[in-house]
Amino acid sequence: MDKNALGWEKGYQQYLQDWRDLPRTRTVRDYPPQVDLELSSVCNLKCPMCFTLNDAFKSGVRPALMKFGLFAKVIDEIAGKVHKIHLSLRGEPTLNPDFIECVAYAKRKGIGEVSTVTNGSRLDMDFFVAAAQAGMDRFSISVDGLEAEYNRIRAPLAFRDILQNIRQIHEYKTRHGMIKPVIKIQAVWPSIRANPTEFYRTFAPYVDLVSFNPLADWRHTDSNIEYEEDFSCSTLYQRLVVGADGRIIMCINDEYGEVLLGNARTQTIYEVWHSPQMARIRQLHAEGRWQEMEPCLRCLLPRKTERSETAVVDDREVVIENYTNRLQTL
Ligand code: SF4
Repeated sequence: MDKNALGWEKGYQQYLQDWRDLPRTRTVRDYPPQVDLELSSVCNLKCPMCFTLNDAFKSGVRPALMKFGLFAKVIDEIAGKVHKIHLSLRGEPTLNPDFIECVAYAKRKGIGEVSTVTNGSRLDMDFFVAAAQAGMDRFSISVDGLEAEYNRIRAPLAFRDILQNIRQIHEYKTRHGMIKPVIKIQAVWPSIRANPTEFYRTFAPYVDLVSFNPLADWRHTDSNIEYEEDFSCSTLYQRLVVGADGRIIMCINDEYGEVLLGNARTQTIYEVWHSPQMARIRQLHAEGRWQEMEPCLRCLLPRKTERSETAVVDDREVVIENYTNRLQTL
């Protein structure tokens, strides 16, 4: 069984089906299958590949922690209608002092899955146990590289601390016979390119999934970008994004919040999901005119990819599918 399905097996199947089929048939469900709630637009790190270092981000996005009242308002509306919520977008979600209370509230209200991405800086045993008891379903932890490479990219965090926390979480889960929260480790490809097998063997005994992604152009320095022909974006049928200050932005990859659809403090998720502006954006994509949207031109999703490298990871050959004309250096 897929560990992610534990405790909401039927809902999980429906979620997977909606995620796959709604974009294909361009069907707008009553509510999106997933809502992303940004608990924090602030981060405590300055990783060199991150868009939070870009001037456009610094001048365009207000540093904010989502207020619990706003979170609860959204959950009260979407519980029973949305399959899952994801608690991160641009900042580090665990900086929000109400993180645990938010998880507990969403699970009490019946949200099928609550997940987040974290840099792991706050994920010590006390935090993990509190989150697990609140009903947290999944943590994806960004671990870029081993030892000195991690310390360089993720400064001032230290590799030995993150590894120790992950080992302790594994021991705790094993001792208590726990499957959830599911733990995934994710890295950007150039940070592990020199030793992918060592990276895999370091973490595989302690987590549920070890993954990596090609490094996207988050600093927006690439030229000579090539796009997929016949691209049309799936996310417009899959998820709606509420920023930490309540603003509802076009999608997860409009990281500067350029295309504002509304505000969750004064509007419902239903209203915004079915708004004329959202319908217009879907229409532009359906007509192949998505290049009229500035965030889409910067986005990783329409970019052409190519199988540019292979790596041997623990005796398995893994193909690296990189963006065309994108240097994988950090
Ligand atoms: S920026 Fe455009 S292409 Fe990228 S996720 Fe958003 S709508 Fe889709």
